[in-house]
Amino acid sequence: MSTRTEALSERFETAFMPNYGVPPVAIARGEGSVVWDVDGRRYLDLIGGIAVTSLGHGHPALVEAVSRQVAVLAHTSNLFLHEPEVLLAERLIGLLGGPAKVFLANSGTEANEAALKLAIKYGRAHGRSYFVAAEMGFHGRTLGALSLTGKASIRDQFGPFPIDVRFVPYGDADALKNAVTGDCAAVFLEPTQGEAGVVPPPDGYFAAAREICSSAGALLVADEIQSAIGRTGHWFAHQAEGVLPDVLTLAKGLGGGMPIGACIGFGEAGTIFEKGDHGSTFGGNPVSCAAALAVLDTIEREGLLEHVEAVGRRLADGIAAISHPLLKGVRGRGLWLAAVLTSARAGQVQAAAQEAGFLVNAVQPDAVRLAPPLVVTEAEVSSFLDAFPAILEAADV
Ligand SMILES: *Cc1c(COP(=O)(O)O)cnc(C)c1O
Repeated sequence: MSTRTEALSERFETAFMPNYGVPPVAIARGEGSVVWDVDGRRYLDLIGGIAVTSLGHGHPALVEAVSRQVAVLAHTSNLFLHEPEVLLAERLIGLLGGPAKVFLANSGTEANEAALKLAIKYGRAHGRSYFVAAEMGFHGRTLGALSLTGKASIRDQFGPFPIDVRFVPYGDADALKNAVTGDCAAVFLEPTQGEAGVVPPPDGYFAAAREICSSAGALLVADEIQSAIGRTGHWFAHQAEGVLPDVLTLAKGLGGGMPIGACIGFGEAGTIFEKGDHGSTFGGNPVSCAAALAVLDTIEREGLLEHVEAVGRRLADGIAAISHPLLKGVRGRGLWLAAVLTSARAGQVQAAAQEAGFLVNAVQPDAVRLAPPLVVTEAEVSSFLDAFPAILEAADV
């Protein structure tokens, strides 16, 4: 018997370029941290559209903000300004607690493109010609962001790139120090590497990076596209390190599902772009800004930073307490975790979890990423922990 999922998958395969393959679940709707597929099967969503749906699905505050804004004013272009973008920029600056200036884009990649152009301009002004980024780091798929991305499998076939980027092993402060000379314009780093498998660096690495960049005169660009907006139990992951970057990029969780990205420059980095240097027709559109404001307000009003801390600990401790030959351990912080496997069976774990009614992500061959909505409940997390040993067992045959 052919299901709706099968029928839709066949049409997807026919109509779309094969760059994504055919995704395994056709989602029809969602509510909170639960989604239903087109055949009515229910799943607990423990990946949240890759750390994006911070308020879960259909949160009344997001629905209200987006509906109201789209009815009043959906788009202006950058030829005109509007209040939601001003409120959002002010709000972000307030959360960051320092003098800063904001550029709004539509995605993470675009936020990084802005950061890269800004860093190129900074480099030319100061006679600095190259960039440093981390092996296995992910900064996006457009050519500028891809040139900073340290994963050979997605990078190499599209190179060489016109930008000189030197890669260092992530987490190795000595290697970073050696790589960052007076000719280096900027260092691009994730505070924890997301696509590499939620890999935190050793304690003190980010502070060391700050120190290395400051003494060499290079900009430190923190790519917090995945790590910010409450994901780790802090507004921004760098705040936990007590480190302020020169440039910060945001996206994913900021819009709660609406597309938005931000590139934020502190101090001098906020004034590098001059009139005409950069732009985006859709960037900072009123609807996405209204969504982001609703996300920030709701995180505050519902005390979600504390909630993420508590539920994230419950989830991490619960995984750590499971003894199974396929499970090596757990890493990450807040509601941004990876269950690390003893062998390359993450795909099988993802499939077994799906079969059991849980959406998780095989982010690496041996790592299963969990990045649920920030509103996921203790009870929902417990239901996954109860099911996880059997999921591992089903994946280990
Ligand atoms: C997802 C991600 C990006 C790219 O963002 P898009 O919105 O997919 O363009 C860049 N950097 C990091 C760290 C990411 O996690």
